[in-house]
Amino acid sequence: IPVGQLTADEAALELKHLSTLIAEYDRAYYEFDSPFVDDATYDKLRIRNKEIESRFPLLILPESPSYRVGSRPAKGFSKVLHRFPMLSLDNAFDEEDVREFVARVRRFLGLGEEESIELMASPKIDGLSCSLVYIDGQLKTAATRGDGETGEDITQNVKTIADLPHSIDNPLDKVLEIRGEVYLTHQDFQLLNQQREKAEEPLLANPRNAAAGSLRQLDPQITASRPLKFFAYSLTIDDNPSYFKTNEESLKKLAGWGFSVVPPFKSCDLDKLLAYHADLEKKRSGSELDFDIDGVVYKINRSDWQDRLGFVARAPRWAIAYKFPAEQAQTTLRQIVIQV
Ligand code: NAD
Repeated sequence: IPVGQLTADEAALELKHLSTLIAEYDRAYYEFDSPFVDDATYDKLRIRNKEIESRFPLLILPESPSYRVGSRPAKGFSKVLHRFPMLSLDNAFDEEDVREFVARVRRFLGLGEEESIELMASPKIDGLSCSLVYIDGQLKTAATRGDGETGEDITQNVKTIADLPHSIDNPLDKVLEIRGEVYLTHQDFQLLNQQREKAEEPLLANPRNAAAGSLRQLDPQITASRPLKFFAYSLTIDDNPSYFKTNEESLKKLAGWGFSVVPPFKSCDLDKLLAYHADLEKKRSGSELDFDIDGVVYKINRSDWQDRLGFVARAPRWAIAYKFPAEQAQTTLRQIVIQV
């Protein structure tokens, strides 16, 4: 039934059903790294849920998926309380949504049309979000996002990843938090599946779930046998949160310390930023990239504007993820039995 034609009773019933279904899908995806449905199907449920909620705000459930992030930490792992919440990102599904995002930012900050807004566009890596805490320059704790407040302690597993520095020279402060995405390259994913085929083990469905399953192992030796990689996308300094004036400056620092950072595209021109999305989508379909991406993340570059914009529900107001349409190949691959 179109949302506009729902009665309040029908809406209440459907919101309850969607909340339960999305929670089930979240558990399969985040806790067991083994999704029941493809991302496009999942995203449609969330959109429908949001549309019903906007029409019937009084019916929003306390357990609504619009206010939840990820899923609770799985049993077996020690828990890590995040120093500040690890949230999600709001999604844009077409150019109009991105234009509306910029218009919202302009309204919120009270900026006139003549004032330009600089955005950083970077590929949205389709991996597993991870938080790394460095104390006195040494990697001390690594955690998954979990439910956004509490994550799983994966410190020993992360220490087996060769692609990230275990110590940092000249850290800017006693405590630093670096967040990023753990992923597997296409080549490593294929090699892993070839080895599993030979060993007559079930094949892994796709690089994202293979990376998540490899990292979230209770035995770090299994993680060590998987060639996981890490892209960093944020750096927070505990006692000096306004140290970096822009997102760009913090990424340069991360790269200087030896973290892999995908070079972002910076511009004030929305048409150029949208062309970057179109170009990346072609590259991704043409297999020019050796890792999976599922969209482009646009972030406001100025840190003081990010601070003023803050957060709403489960996402920052200063960023948006413009997703790519789901790829056919992923659906086919997901039909393979998954067991990590
Ligand atoms: P998300 O993956 O859409 O976006 C937030 C995450 O993007 C952040 O946590 C961050 O780790 C990551 N990210 C990647 N590149 C980044 C960059 N350059 N800058 C900043 N962040 C970057 O968030 P989510 O809440 O985990 O997402 C839900 C997505 O996962 C949905 O879009 C859905 O497609 C998929 N999902 C699918 C199922 C399923 O059953 N198929 C279930 C749950 C979620």
